[in-house]
Amino acid sequence: MGVPALVDAQRAHAAGVQRLLESYRAVPDGTAVRLAKPTSNLFRTRTTTQGRGLDTSGLTGVIAIDTRARTAEVAGMCTYDDLVAATLRHGLAPLVVPQLKTITLGGAVTGLGIESTSFRNGLPHESVLEMDILTGAGEVLTASPTEHADLYRAFPNSYGTLGYAVRLRIDLEPVTPFVTLRHLRFHSLSDLADALGRLAQTGRLDGVAIDYLDGVVFSAEESYLCVGVQTDARGAVSDYTGQQIYYRSIQHDTGVTDDRLTIHDYLWRWDTDWFWCSQPFGAQDRRLRRIWPKRYRSSSVYSTLMKYEQRFRVGDRIEQLRGRPPRERVVQDIEVPMERCAAFLRWFLDTVPITPIWLCPLRLQSDVGWPLYPMEPRRSYVNVGFWSTVPIGSVAGATNRRIERAVRRFEGHKSLYSDSYYSREEFDELYGGDSYRAVKKRYDPDSRLLDLYAKAVQRR
Ligand SMILES: Cc1cc2nc3c(=O)[nH]c(=O)nc-3n(C[C@H](O)[C@H](O)[C@H](O)COP(=O)(O)OP(=O)(O)OC[C@H]3O[C@@H](n4cnc5c(N)ncnc54)[C@H](O)[C@@H]3O)c2cc1C
Repeated sequence: MGVPALVDAQRAHAAGVQRLLESYRAVPDGTAVRLAKPTSNLFRTRTTTQGRGLDTSGLTGVIAIDTRARTAEVAGMCTYDDLVAATLRHGLAPLVVPQLKTITLGGAVTGLGIESTSFRNGLPHESVLEMDILTGAGEVLTASPTEHADLYRAFPNSYGTLGYAVRLRIDLEPVTPFVTLRHLRFHSLSDLADALGRLAQTGRLDGVAIDYLDGVVFSAEESYLCVGVQTDARGAVSDYTGQQIYYRSIQHDTGVTDDRLTIHDYLWRWDTDWFWCSQPFGAQDRRLRRIWPKRYRSSSVYSTLMKYEQRFRVGDRIEQLRGRPPRERVVQDIEVPMERCAAFLRWFLDTVPITPIWLCPLRLQSDVGWPLYPMEPRRSYVNVGFWSTVPIGSVAGATNRRIERAVRRFEGHKSLYSDSYYSREEFDELYGGDSYRAVKKRYDPDSRLLDLYAKAVQRR
């Protein structure tokens, strides 16, 4: 980026911050402050609010990329789609790129993100060098490991209740143009979990260093680990943005299969079919897929369709016509320690009728830890993601509540982007209540922003 372009980008960003501040000041006292963003990857239904929300329109771009230092200066509401497009031009990528294109950098840092580099790079907030945050007190402060360190540490998993990240400086890593993939088939969950633990620990497969690692469980007898290695070697690549479907491509009877993708298509391999969640919309039906415009095969389109579905309760009405009860939404990501992974999966498959299940190993890089999502530093965990519905139970959220209890039993944690049913005491215990309250008091003394429990559990 030349100096004039950089100056322009910095000026545009300053104007964007100004507009955000003006819109913040225009929110009347006593009215909840919210972001006005065109997209969201939040799954909790929320009470509708009056008012226009904060103007984030000037905070969506990449401000600068320093190719020598391998860092990027990014506006808080920049989507990973735009961020990755900018960094790949320089052969660089964020250390962790969440799988859905419309997730923003600020959203992934405050709401936790994860991907197949997390076994070696931890979570997105761990590669944040510093960030400017509009706090509840209406100030824009820089938070880093040394400046306002309490805010920097408490920000991950605060979901915008301590402030909004308007600018972040993050580390980048070099990437090559292609990724070779090996899909390893397993016939038992113990074998799968053993191999996952070994690969995540050693970072090698058959003596070769691995760059990417995730997996999919279709049943107790059919599961896969997907191992990716970066490469410069040119050659044929697969395309899962067309008629072929990525998650189906990894299935085979036995042993190992190989594949290759461009780095761009690898990073977005799960977006085209929203993992496998495009299926209920008909996007995986061969005939419909042929006429479904390519640009409408993306997670943002399915999530918009899903929001309409929820608003008009289409699924429940169909169930009712068939004489069946409505269904409970079970859309969750949880983490369990690596050594409890197989046992948790067994419990899950015996209890919750949802497959496929996504697996992603992770290990925090920071030795200090992050108080609002207290995983142990340097311990290996596995993220387990399941996104579907089940028959409704005797109480609201019956299956979600069972999962919450099981996750505790298995020494795990649950992400807060979706429905939660914890009591306030339990929530405080699990999500760093004391640390949260101290930071909240300091940076949002008049409670202009919602409280985390109100937002995450009470759906405000
Ligand atoms: C079905 C589903 C699948 C998911 N899968 C993945 C996945 O595979 N990998 C992954 O990494 N994550 C995943 N997530 C989680 C996702 O990363 C988080 O929900 C994240 O917070 C979404 O970011 P967003 O930019 O879309 O924010 P939004 O959905 O718009 O907002 C989420 C919350 O963050 C707050 N927020 C948004 N921007 C900022 C900001 N700049 N500063 C402070 N607060 C802010 C909002 O107020 C809101 O409370 C998934 C979520 C869903 C629903």
